[in-house]
Amino acid sequence: TFRAIVANKTDAGYEAKIEEIGLDQLSEGDVVVDVAYSTLNYKDGLAVTGKGKICESFPMVCGIDFSGTVASSETDAFKPGDRVVVNGYGLSQDKSGGYAQKARVKSDILVRLPDGLDLKQAMAIGTAGYTAMLCVLALEKHGVAPGSGDVLVTGAAGGVGSVAVAVLAKLGYSVTASTGREETHGYLKDLGAANIIDRTELSEQGKPFQKPRWAGVVDTVGSHTLANALAQTAYGGCVAACGLAGGPDLPTTVLPFILRGVNLAGVDSVYAPMPARQEAWSRLAVDLPLDKLDAMSEMAPLQKVLELAPEILKGQVRGRVIVDVNA
Ligand code: NAP
Repeated sequence: TFRAIVANKTDAGYEAKIEEIGLDQLSEGDVVVDVAYSTLNYKDGLAVTGKGKICESFPMVCGIDFSGTVASSETDAFKPGDRVVVNGYGLSQDKSGGYAQKARVKSDILVRLPDGLDLKQAMAIGTAGYTAMLCVLALEKHGVAPGSGDVLVTGAAGGVGSVAVAVLAKLGYSVTASTGREETHGYLKDLGAANIIDRTELSEQGKPFQKPRWAGVVDTVGSHTLANALAQTAYGGCVAACGLAGGPDLPTTVLPFILRGVNLAGVDSVYAPMPARQEAWSRLAVDLPLDKLDAMSEMAPLQKVLELAPEILKGQVRGRVIVDVNA
């Protein structure tokens, strides 16, 4: 047997706790992985506390991502010892997830970890970092280049935001970081932010069409923040929307789209197709300054997830939490 964080819903209520389980309690699959690390994401906060309907059946092993080493494989595509990573694809929703010392998955959801990233770095990046890279790729696909003008990252001190700031700065973009936490200003500057604004500048209802400020935006917040970001995006620019930390609504008008040709690019990491995943991971190995990862991430043993889950929902977690499932 091995340890896992398992969510249960019974007449007594919702509870996630550490349990000893066996392989027979994991989802079906042709590859068994010795999990090394998982991470803590906003969505994990929702699943572990039960504050959001993430798990679709019970009992469910939580954890939307993991890195690890193939222990056994029934397919020629993977062999024992291969280093792999999974983000999303229904882990902790309809498939057992990464908060366990072992995972069993279908091989078609496994991404081979590119050379240049180790198992710990892979989860320092995690789903948040991989989503940030999908956002950067979306900006690039819409023609936003380092010379195009300033780019904005909202929710900048969070997991997705931190990686977006670091990657964009390394690529040569002039990054403005929007944060509500003054104590993170030094951290954001160290990641490469050229400017920092207070999130209240964006979180109040603004005019639907404003002075152009941004060539591109990575938005993790949604709601008025996303509406203001759209209203402030320059001609032909792009806003990559991936999050809802400030709310799922989008109180905007069509004006930025029809008067400035602004593009709103939706970014989903959960069911992103395999080629997009592979592209994001291979770009992360090259374009994320790995020396910044340490400053961005803290390590937590599996047990600590239960304590940190409510904190990430309150926006109190800075950067990335790597979960050592074997500690
Ligand atoms: P996180 O670490 O908690 O970061 C979220 C950040 O948003 C916080 O650090 C905070 O940044 C800011 N924030 C929180 N509450 C806010 C509010 N009420 N108004 C304005 N800003 C607020 O979470 P994460 O893992 O980076 O995820 C960020 C968002 O992206 C979440 O909504 C998550 O669900 C979403 N996400 C989506 C995908 C996808 O596939 N589309 C994948 C991963 C994550 P500051 O302290 O800097 O202000």
